[in-house]
Amino acid sequence: MVAEVICVGTELLLGQIVNTNAQYISQKLAQYGIDLYYQTVVGDNYDRLKKAIQIAYSRSDMIIFTGGLGPTSDDITKEVVSDFFNIELVEDKDTLKHIQSFFEMRKREMPEINKKQALVPLGSIILKNDFGTAPGVIIEKDEKVAILLPGPPYELKPMFENYVENYLKKFSNKRIFSKIIRFTGIGESSIEEQLKDIILNQTDPTIALYAKPYEVTMRISTKKDNQEIAYKMLDQIVTKVKERLEKFIYSYDDLTIEQLIVEQLRRKGLILSVAESCTGGLIANKITDVPGASAVFDRGFIVYSNQAKIDELGVPEELIKEYGAVSSFVAEKMAEGAIKNSNANISISTTGIAGPTGATDKKPIGLVYVGICYDGKTESFEYRFVGDRKTIKENATFAALEVLRKKIF
Ligand code: ATP
Repeated sequence: MVAEVICVGTELLLGQIVNTNAQYISQKLAQYGIDLYYQTVVGDNYDRLKKAIQIAYSRSDMIIFTGGLGPTSDDITKEVVSDFFNIELVEDKDTLKHIQSFFEMRKREMPEINKKQALVPLGSIILKNDFGTAPGVIIEKDEKVAILLPGPPYELKPMFENYVENYLKKFSNKRIFSKIIRFTGIGESSIEEQLKDIILNQTDPTIALYAKPYEVTMRISTKKDNQEIAYKMLDQIVTKVKERLEKFIYSYDDLTIEQLIVEQLRRKGLILSVAESCTGGLIANKITDVPGASAVFDRGFIVYSNQAKIDELGVPEELIKEYGAVSSFVAEKMAEGAIKNSNANISISTTGIAGPTGATDKKPIGLVYVGICYDGKTESFEYRFVGDRKTIKENATFAALEVLRKKIF
């Protein structure tokens, strides 16, 4: 089975939205071991979409479409695909009821044009849309398969996970199994250097490295029909990597640093507050991305100006005057202030120069201090990051989380 993805939408062509659906579906197909060689983006245009479908079926057996299932006249995917297969569209009563109740529940009048969404290709499999009105559709004809899914990712993903995945299982007995190792404190090239023999000899499992600010992720993958055999092979590589690079590894289970931290804070009964200057709330954002963070996170202080550091955290004005806001002393006082002014018993802080302005001879762009206060002791760490403003902020965020992780593990 060779699949292909066609994403429909002029907004995609104009660059107004990012094609995250293509990325999502590609990852899912890879997991199911279904080959995907082409992705196409096409605007809301009847003839061009039909042409794209003809080309795609000349080289693939299955096309997964996203978008263009809405009620308006520019939503044409269902019409064009039905035309291609020469199948008529008929009203599906259950779908119509679902659409009507969707509006009723929201206490809104159903516009007449939404009735169009209850039209489905005759004989097709209908996929219920639990988060919207447009149903998904699967057509099987002449040994070809078309899967039509709605554009909004919050509608598409649950539909894919709840209904499409089950359907795809019949096309593949093999799945991709992966293990992810996350490193910090070591660069991509050094990892490659130290694992040269393993990486060069890789055929199955395969090893891929991805560098992100302040961390490197390694994905070890194999395509198998047996989960036990797959994980045995993956674990053999994990063991070899661990033997050589254990001190740089912070996660083996595809857990992010913030997930590890929240879990460990919970285990130790610790409560965290953060005081952020140059990271502008990114640390608090990461922590609160983790479900269950409310049990371990008290509050975040975003203290960008000097006055805010003084008012909110009691950083002494003289200290700022003497050493500057970007200094180890201020980072430490910020961390202490975050504990004093909250219910936390552990805190971290950041202060730095994210650029592109604000540098001096002694304090270059990328200079960041991270403070930590725990168990009556305060420490700070200095970093020099390079990159644009966003990269420096991301690096500083990760660095602070890493300081915290090391402290609590
Ligand atoms: P609707 O019923 O909401 O009209 P639809 O199936 O017709 O859904 P579109 O009208 O094509 O979908 O797109 C609706 C919205 O879904 C877009 O404005 C965009 O926010 C999101 N979207 C569409 N296609 C993609 C895509 N390929 N990747 C990410 N988001 C997308």
